[in-house]
Amino acid sequence: MTVENLVILGSGPAGCTAAIYAARANLDPVVLTGLQIGGQLTQTSSIENWPGEAMISGFDLMEKMQEHAKSLGAKFVNDEATEIDYSERPFTISLGSGETIKAKAIIIATGANPKFLGLSSESKFLGNGISTCATCDGFFYKNKEVAVVGGGNTALQDALYLANICKKVYLIHRRDTFRAENLVVERVKAEVKNNKIELVLNSNVKEILGTDLAGVTGLTVVNKDTNEERTINVPGVFIAVGHKPNSASFAPIALKEDGTIETGLQPGFVTSCSVPGIFAAGDVADDTYRQAITSAGTGCKAALDVERFLKIND
Ligand code: FAD
Ligand code: NAP
Repeated sequence: MTVENLVILGSGPAGCTAAIYAARANLDPVVLTGLQIGGQLTQTSSIENWPGEAMISGFDLMEKMQEHAKSLGAKFVNDEATEIDYSERPFTISLGSGETIKAKAIIIATGANPKFLGLSSESKFLGNGISTCATCDGFFYKNKEVAVVGGGNTALQDALYLANICKKVYLIHRRDTFRAENLVVERVKAEVKNNKIELVLNSNVKEILGTDLAGVTGLTVVNKDTNEERTINVPGVFIAVGHKPNSASFAPIALKEDGTIETGLQPGFVTSCSVPGIFAAGDVADDTYRQAITSAGTGCKAALDVERFLKIND
């Protein structure tokens, strides 16, 4: 079986940047794209904080990154890693297709997946009135009323995106201040003045309502201060309450309490994991910043770490 120098798990900004640097270092990297080719950014229609691009769609930015990496010789494989055998180097990676692949070094750049509220109705109606992707599913609610749950950048940007398409957006948040950046909050406030967004603050979602046939018909929220219960009738609910790192498949490498991969564990290698030869980059190893640019930055560091690691260890 061929032994690859480097296999990169993930095709988001971290994985693609790692692939660009590794390809330029003649490491002939292989990128396993995972199921979400291009990663989380492919879910957003407008990115305004990628240096050099005042405004670009997430899909376009990620297409460009993949094409850049491919043009330098990185090989993209549409598959995902299900398990890594760390017992000897080269490591053996099991793939979703049932095949295996061997690698002298691995960069885990598997990002993060949306979190849910933990209501049984969420799994019942997911895809039938409940969505975690406004840009993917917003179109289905053209000129209808919808709800967005959350108070971070994703929730507020989703609310703004949907306010353009839908009749009205109820933005439901459990506090009365937002985690999202000020610029985005100001834009939301402007849409509140236009009656396109209604803020439902200090409120928890108690249940998402609906039937098998009709899908979602609404949701009940409870105000935390007054205990008052309110039913909001909407056919669509967008859950945007954060993301959890995709690190579960990679045990027993060391994780932090929040599930992000612990890095910097091998002296001199900031992206190294608890197993020598395994590196991590992007949101999967980031408990704080979780931006496209910071993910790309750690993807770069991981590729440079791998280049040095292989020089010393091969
Ligand atoms: P991801 O982008 O999450 O990519 C992870 C990759 O790993 C995917 O390709 C996936 O298929 C793959 N994968 C997962 N599991 C496996 C596996 N087992 N094997 C192989 N591959 C696997 N940030 C900004 O800076 N600006 C923005 O405007 C912005 N907008 C956003 C809008 C939305 C709706 C969301 C959800 C996020 C936004 N972010 C934004 C945050 C940004 O998307 C993330 O910080 C960034 O995408 C993280 O990059 P990443 O490469 O670490 O992971
Ligand atoms: P986030 O910043 O973690 O925000 C999650 C939001 O959901 C918070 O407001 C949180 O409330 C709320 N929440 C969490 N669990 C909840 C629950 N069980 N019930 C009700 N509400 C709950 O997540 P995100 O918005 O997905 O953003 C993730 C990362 O991507 C961030 O680093 C963000 O900056 C980045 N991002 C950036 C951009 C951009 O740059 N424009 C766009 C999108 C995302 P509390 O506030 O009360 O904790």
